[in-house]
Amino acid sequence: MYNMLTGIRIGVSRCQAKAARPLTDADYTARHKFSFDIVGNELTPSVRYDFKFKDYAPWVFRELREYFYLDPSDYLMSLTSKYILSELGSPGKSGSFFYFSRDYRFIIKTIRHSEHKFLRSILKEYHEHVKRNPHTLLSRFYGLHRVKLPHGRKIHFVIMNNLFPPHRDIHETYDLKGSAIGRLYPEDKAAANPHAVLKDLNWVGRNRQFALGPEKKALFEEQLRRDTELLQRLGIMDYSLLTGIHNGVRGNSEGLREDKLSVFQPAKVKVSRKPTQVKRDADASALRKAVQQSDPQALGGKHELPEHDNSERRMFLFYQDEGGMRASGDSNEDLGAIYYLGIIDILTPYTCVKRLEHFFKGFQHNKHMISAVPPREYGDRFLAFIKSSIRGNDVSTRPQMFEHEP
Ligand code: ATP
Ligand code: CA
Ligand code: CA
Repeated sequence: MYNMLTGIRIGVSRCQAKAARPLTDADYTARHKFSFDIVGNELTPSVRYDFKFKDYAPWVFRELREYFYLDPSDYLMSLTSKYILSELGSPGKSGSFFYFSRDYRFIIKTIRHSEHKFLRSILKEYHEHVKRNPHTLLSRFYGLHRVKLPHGRKIHFVIMNNLFPPHRDIHETYDLKGSAIGRLYPEDKAAANPHAVLKDLNWVGRNRQFALGPEKKALFEEQLRRDTELLQRLGIMDYSLLTGIHNGVRGNSEGLREDKLSVFQPAKVKVSRKPTQVKRDADASALRKAVQQSDPQALGGKHELPEHDNSERRMFLFYQDEGGMRASGDSNEDLGAIYYLGIIDILTPYTCVKRLEHFFKGFQHNKHMISAVPPREYGDRFLAFIKSSIRGNDVSTRPQMFEHEP
């Protein structure tokens, strides 16, 4: 952890110190190497342990952070403050480790070499997508790095947004894929563990829905469609819509985390980055226009972008209400809950491994139900499931495999 954070501090501040310039093709494949040792030199400070650090595509991530409205000094401060990072309780079965920055805004996820290579290979398209879709629901990647230890072990990791806020309790968490097989967290265990990450069949069994009101619904569906389309085009699968629900009635009384609250200092959005703001407004209106063309009734009322506010999340349509998206009724009335959601785990291409899994699992189950189906099918099913889960849509559009579930 110490190596990771020291590397980030040096790498990011080195790049950030230079004058901004337009990206070139070489920036997407660039990697900057740093060698740290206990002696130190003019480039790298002396450190406690020898290690090597690689910063991948630093200029591209610098620009991405700008699109995501991160203040450079804030970013560094969050990631390198001394008392960093608690580990996430139960990481996925992939073997990745998750760490939170102390202020809870960022997550460091260690990734496999294959995921690392894959992210580099799609970086240009990801960057292009974020540029065109400032309100994207995809995981926000802020940096890609590698630490190499003296005995040769390499640790690849990304830095991304924590979808969940530091100042609001999450009362229910769902990881939704649109698949039915293996997608049930035992309800008896869930009752005992309010922090359990529930799955598709829990969602269906509990009759959960996204209540968004007509305008947010239309914008959300359009953005979801665009994001899924990119994932399909890039041959990605196995992603999910991570959803945390804050129940306003229950409030923050249960387990309000003092430690989280006391360190939460929302980033100040600097006025100096006005040009990005202008571009962003234009992009939001493009999203709105697209929705209007396909469904003129969709955007009845006003749903303006927020004015400058004190957290970068407020710059984004789906993260503007207390860092999330308020549940709304049919006439846009406040239903007192907030959704915190985004599409996570987007670095798994449909590789040979998945093809094999598909082949073998296909013998045992209906092959359209399992999670390892080809990317096109995966995305269609994902989208259909989420859409069928939005209030106002016909539940019968829910993907077929759910029909026969108990
Ligand atoms: P697997 O491949 O087995 O699904 P993984 O190691 O790739 O696991 P993810 O699916 O990325 O892990 O995430 C595992 C869990 O970590 C999620 O269900 C969620 O609880 C938490 N998590 C992941 N990303 C985020 C995020 N951006 N914000 C908040 N929580 C997250
Ligand atoms: Ca996952
Ligand atoms: Ca994964």
